[in-house]
Amino acid sequence: MRHVCLFDIDGTLLNTGGAGQAAMERALEAAFGLVDLNHDIPAAGRTDRAITSDLFAHHGIELHDESWNSFVTTYVENLRVSLADLTGTVLPGIVELLDELASHGDVSMGLLTGNFREGAWLKLSHYKLDHHFAYGGFGDDHHDRDDVARTAYAEACRHLKRDVEREQVWVIGDTPSDVRCGRAIGANVIAVATGIYSADELAAAEPDYLVADFSDPGMLLARLI
Ligand SMILES: [Mg+2]
Repeated sequence: MRHVCLFDIDGTLLNTGGAGQAAMERALEAAFGLVDLNHDIPAAGRTDRAITSDLFAHHGIELHDESWNSFVTTYVENLRVSLADLTGTVLPGIVELLDELASHGDVSMGLLTGNFREGAWLKLSHYKLDHHFAYGGFGDDHHDRDDVARTAYAEACRHLKRDVEREQVWVIGDTPSDVRCGRAIGANVIAVATGIYSADELAAAEPDYLVADFSDPGMLLARLI
């Protein structure tokens, strides 16, 4: 395989209709009895580890293995429920884009997401996109998305059993953090304005390519296939 595409999930492949945030809130209540949550902690483009650490710190919850594992387990249980309860959507053109990329033997597809590993697979399987992805970098261990990108790149190399050239790697995401982390690993970056950031805000981060959505995937396909 010549090219590697590393996809962000939320705001890029799909929108869960707030299932992730709802699950986080329910988990903090179930695990620690918190009901009055701080909603000012930013989430888009950040890792679940970083978001959760901020929530713990803000609400005075001590972070250690036990509290952490209890939170993640409860979060995943609640995510399953909130994915079913809330109406989300696969974003425009994504099903066709992934099918098209998969039908060519030349493109390997992985994940580069701030989601907890288990949460990522739950979201993707709920929206029937999981079969396209075999590996990735996740937000369990890293506070900094650039480190998630480094892991995703290393996993791509491991999966393909070779050192993938950086110019053959494409990072696709919906936030300035996605652009930055793509730069951190020397990849090409495509920003897509289907998340909370406008096209103008994404342009300021200077991605290699910027699209409103993938309803016309021709630009990406032309460069990959
Ligand atoms: Mg995103």
